[in-house]
Amino acid sequence: MTSSESLPVAVIGAGPVGLAAAAHLLERGLEPVVFEAGPTVGAAIRQWGHIRVFSTWKYNLDAASVRLLERNGWEAPRPTALPYGAQIVSEYLEPLAATPELKDRIRTGSRVVAVSREGMDKGRSQGRESAPFLLRIEHDGGTVTEVLARAVIDTSGTWSTPAPLGSSGLAVPGEAEARAAGLITGPLPDVAGGGFAGRRTLVIGSGHSAANMVLDLARVARANPGTEVLWAIRAATPARAYGGGDTDQLPARGQARSPAPHRRRDWSRPGSWPASTRHPSTCTATP
Ligand SMILES: Cc1cc2nc3c(=O)[nH]c(=O)nc-3n(C[C@H](O)[C@H](O)[C@H](O)COP(=O)(O)OP(=O)(O)OC[C@H]3O[C@@H](n4cnc5c(N)ncnc54)[C@H](O)[C@@H]3O)c2cc1C
Repeated sequence: MTSSESLPVAVIGAGPVGLAAAAHLLERGLEPVVFEAGPTVGAAIRQWGHIRVFSTWKYNLDAASVRLLERNGWEAPRPTALPYGAQIVSEYLEPLAATPELKDRIRTGSRVVAVSREGMDKGRSQGRESAPFLLRIEHDGGTVTEVLARAVIDTSGTWSTPAPLGSSGLAVPGEAEARAAGLITGPLPDVAGGGFAGRRTLVIGSGHSAANMVLDLARVARANPGTEVLWAIRAATPARAYGGGDTDQLPARGQARSPAPHRRRDWSRPGSWPASTRHPSTCTATP
């Protein structure tokens, strides 16, 4: 069996957390290898690049990553500015991934599909804790390889594995079929980009992302008669979704898109929902 000490630490995902993990590993004299399923670093953030985040740059930058970048001549963005997702990728993640220290340690187009221990089937436990990790990786183009690692850091995020709709973290009946039929979108679609006008859309979830979707869809509905928006939440009121105002720890979140009190509607009150049960023609479930 291979000695773990000589092996790299495998990092799954080249988002901000995965690249930060790689930078910290290098500072500790450990060898990282980062596997990214997408074609580029920051592949998940790119998909919502059109959205501006709530936390300013200073909360989005990792200290070890900044040290690595600054050694390579990088200039930090203004710490109080609020970047779009696309800027996090172009002004931070791409320069970080391009540093001489990291560039050859990142494998894009490489999806980790399984993690096991070398030589350990399910029935074997003796020596398991000291056996190297074994990662099975599917590469773009269809080849599959297996790689050994002394440790694995899973920073694959949640973007590609959104929570199922059921209250116990399980899919509700019909959910898988609806997703397969394209009736449930991925989280945070660019609704202004088209595809929702003239349709009835059900937004599910009571977080800030859901609230933003409802507001974006309301704008589409205003410009396109026949467009309808329904919002389903489990909580008794949608208050959690509104920005926390002056008391919010993140000012941008506190202020952002919080509907004025007179425009809020308490859907928990009897009679608040439309009289008939209507089926949406599309559904957006937010993380
Ligand atoms: C609209 C929006 C606004 C947000 N605003 C904020 C904010 O203001 N402040 C804040 O702190 N956070 C915010 N977030 C949360 C934000 O997504 C996270 O803070 C950040 O992206 C987490 O980084 P990550 O590296 O953990 O995950 P991700 O950015 O999701 O990166 C994970 C990476 O792993 C890759 N991957 C996934 N599975 C595999 C696999 N099996 N094998 C290989 N690679 C894989 C993905 O392609 C992806 O590149 C926001 C999120 C959204 C959607």
